[in-house]
Amino acid sequence: MKLVFERSSPGRRNDFIPALDVEKAELPEELVRKQPLRLPEISQVDMSRHYTELADNSFGVNNGFYPLGSCTMKYNPKINDEMSGLPNFAQIHPFQPIGTAQGSMEVYYTAEKLLTEITGMDAMTFQPAAGAQGELTGVMLIKAYHENNGDFKRNKIIVPDSAHGTNPATASMVNFETINIPSKPNGRVDLEKLKEAVGEDTAGVMLTNPSTVGLFEHDIIEITEIIHDAGGLCYYDGANLNAIMGTVRPGDMGFDVVHLNIHKTFSTPHGGGGPGAGPIGCKEFLKPYLPNYQVIKVGDRYEFEMPEKSIGHVKTFYGHFAVVVRALTYILTLGKEGIPQASKTAVLNANYMRHELKDVFDMAYEGPCMHEFVMTLDTLKKETGVTALDVSKALLDNGMHPPTMYFPDVVKEALMIEPTETESRETLDKVVDVFKKIHQQAYEDAEVIKNAPVNTLIGRVDETTAARNPILTYEF
Ligand SMILES: *Cc1c(COP(=O)(O)O)cnc(C)c1O
Repeated sequence: MKLVFERSSPGRRNDFIPALDVEKAELPEELVRKQPLRLPEISQVDMSRHYTELADNSFGVNNGFYPLGSCTMKYNPKINDEMSGLPNFAQIHPFQPIGTAQGSMEVYYTAEKLLTEITGMDAMTFQPAAGAQGELTGVMLIKAYHENNGDFKRNKIIVPDSAHGTNPATASMVNFETINIPSKPNGRVDLEKLKEAVGEDTAGVMLTNPSTVGLFEHDIIEITEIIHDAGGLCYYDGANLNAIMGTVRPGDMGFDVVHLNIHKTFSTPHGGGGPGAGPIGCKEFLKPYLPNYQVIKVGDRYEFEMPEKSIGHVKTFYGHFAVVVRALTYILTLGKEGIPQASKTAVLNANYMRHELKDVFDMAYEGPCMHEFVMTLDTLKKETGVTALDVSKALLDNGMHPPTMYFPDVVKEALMIEPTETESRETLDKVVDVFKKIHQQAYEDAEVIKNAPVNTLIGRVDETTAARNPILTYEF
């Protein structure tokens, strides 16, 4: 399709601004633009068609099944968008006098109360813009805590190999050395290896639970005890909270800090780079280190407070407010019964699909799984030449988004499927049939799968060139 600039024709316009009826102010010469602004000149209907065409060529949860593992691409109730679009929320300004922003401050205050309840924590900041930045903030708290205790020798963070890639990256960003510990064949943390790894230089552990292979750690209490006994702190990557919310709480498992991806679990549409929010919750003893500011209630008035030993700002102002409004709306509409129900249904849906597929595809780990499961297509590749990538492309021809591929990298030819709670049994059955059909076709006529997709606007692309040599500018 054409770029909007290629649709441009000199003199076409879609907005009519009335002639100036006040005296024209002269700008200083050096501020005057030397060239006219290069905007596309296009009529309103052609512009509307341009964006409609773009939308038609995009794929989202409103188009079909979107089982991207480790991402929780659930359907997000429209009421959340309606609430965040209310004029008093949408038009709020960070420099507004706080007397005129009490309602928005109440949103932060209430969201903190509910999310600390759900996670078993004592306080929360909403400043981080995403999960990865939440991790950074959380590990900065851990560092600030040790340094405040004069404990400068603690310079190592332990990260199991089933962690999300952002965990070791975060530890490095905060200048910690990462100690990687391998998992047992059943995908869980090896306690013996963990015991060998801890010592006087342990700053803490970063643990993803359920892990990126979709499994709940069996020995979670022992893990946090081993770390605490060594004097370290425990960080919980809560990106997979969609599997456990309302049932178990990181705080009760012994964790000191947790981040949430509220654009995953708490219902903000995501993809394409955000905006999201990665609030972190912490236990009371870490509260003094939280980024500024915190919303507190004094009498019946909300105020901002700077935590006493704050690590400072991690983002301008107060974070992505609209995302927090959506999360709060989601929690309040689901309520105390709906929150665990959503998680249980997510886990049920994943186990249902896993069960229906396990006789045809090899599963990477023994079940049951949590909200997602990982298949390994290694046998399929050896027997037919069809890879996980080929299967993903064939799924596109069947009107669905592929699962996460080649992740986690400890599994060969991995496909990681997260159906989420918002899919019906009919949809899951249809998807299972598609997977089985593709599997059968791989044995009967592998070329068909290797040439997929054929029903999409663009066929098989050269992914290496697309990633290494992207053309991101338009030459006039
Ligand atoms: C998505 C994810 C992250 C990173 O979160 P972003 O919001 O994408 O920065 C971290 N850990 C896990 C387990 C995740 O799934």
